[in-house]
Amino acid sequence: MLEKTFAEAKTVKIVATLGPSCREREAILELTRAGADIFRVNLSHSSEDEVNAMVANVRAVEKIVGRPLAILADLAGPKIRIGQTIDGARLSAGDEVEILTRSGERSAYSLSLNFSSVLKNLKPGNGIYLGDGTIHLAVERKLAHGVLTRVISGGHLRSQMGFAAEGLTLKKFALSSKDLQDVALVTSLKVDAIAVSFVQTPRDIEAVRRLLPQNNRPLLIAKIETVPGVNNADKILKIADGLMVARGDLGLSMPIAELPHIQKKLIALGLRNAKPVITATQMLESMIAHPMPTRAEVTDVANAILDGTDAVMLSGETAVGKFPAEAVAMMTKIIASTTPHVVPRFFDNEASIADAVSSSTVAIANQTGAKLVIVFTESGTTARRISRHRNPQPIVALSPNPQTIRQLSFSWGVSAQQISSTKDFDDLVGSAQRIARKNPVRPLNHGEVFVVSAGVPFGKVGSTNLALVERA
Ligand code: PGA
Ligand code: MN
Repeated sequence: MLEKTFAEAKTVKIVATLGPSCREREAILELTRAGADIFRVNLSHSSEDEVNAMVANVRAVEKIVGRPLAILADLAGPKIRIGQTIDGARLSAGDEVEILTRSGERSAYSLSLNFSSVLKNLKPGNGIYLGDGTIHLAVERKLAHGVLTRVISGGHLRSQMGFAAEGLTLKKFALSSKDLQDVALVTSLKVDAIAVSFVQTPRDIEAVRRLLPQNNRPLLIAKIETVPGVNNADKILKIADGLMVARGDLGLSMPIAELPHIQKKLIALGLRNAKPVITATQMLESMIAHPMPTRAEVTDVANAILDGTDAVMLSGETAVGKFPAEAVAMMTKIIASTTPHVVPRFFDNEASIADAVSSSTVAIANQTGAKLVIVFTESGTTARRISRHRNPQPIVALSPNPQTIRQLSFSWGVSAQQISSTKDFDDLVGSAQRIARKNPVRPLNHGEVFVVSAGVPFGKVGSTNLALVERA
């Protein structure tokens, strides 16, 4: 049985999506106290003023709580959506609905699309899903300027609802002018990470990276939510800094029963590359309307944790739900009860000196019964290399770079603190001793062992070459 303090140090990180239910300072403070580590700003649904306000509110709450909070700006990307329609109008099974390449009069029975060229690819019999699959249509026949569909199962329409159709892939990933403006906006706001939606190839990540500054740039999280994205995930993660298993759109672009094994494969890929993975969408969906989740939802969150995910995400639960803080608190509880059952990982792809030193650090920590691992890290890479082992000792990462501190909010088992630059070896040992005795996750008692990992000379990125065993 692992010791209690380990279960108490929160390992898996929680992403809470901001929205009407939680964009004010008080609400964000409440979510933070319930355990949120990362706040997602959904650029599909936020105006520039709202984005500015949300970012300012999260930064203000970070000051109040005194622990790092990260901001993840999620680009709309080439998501296919219907245009303006009659909000709230109900489509019923059997109704005929045309989808046209140009928007005509506003009617519930005549819809338009933002990427209307995809209509050409549709064939009679193809299924179409609106929203998260709430409305199901089937193509009846082609029209001169679109397709005629019939409603299979109905629901209420909303303008800008997501549109997904069987067998559809976008020919080419393209950043819209809105995406370009959004990248400029969130870069100027110094967000910690940008999620790139509908990534299909490594080039799609490069397209965003080119727009960013060279140094202190946000992490790029590739949202895997298309069939090409799944097939190229390995290559995409060589360029991206992390992944999101975006189960919402993924479940619309392939048979939904394929999701569980794809989730496991993508999480394992993240671990192998020492890059964080977020598991997203409908994790506690019923908590949008109810204070308690279903058994299946609790088990889903726990299973993602057992798969090894770095972070779990709440979407509608916090953005528009009735119980945002309860949803975060529920995830915190599931993390606490599941963490002791997470199996440590070993890797056989250690190629670099840094990887070898990191896995040795973990082995030494286990063999010496260390209670804590302290990592001196410039860019965060060393901390992520240790974190991927999913070992029981809490990891305290120390960096002079405030952005590294916030970006480590994405990594499993890492709690990060800012320190002034380390001058020499004596300075490093002194800081490590001080932090070992006084840190929020596992303050050590006199004589307890801890392991330190660092790169010498200091201040160089990717130079991990030191494992040091100390007693508090
Ligand atoms: P979204 O992405 O919430 O921006 O659609 C997540 C998903 O598709 O699961
Ligand atoms: Mn999506």
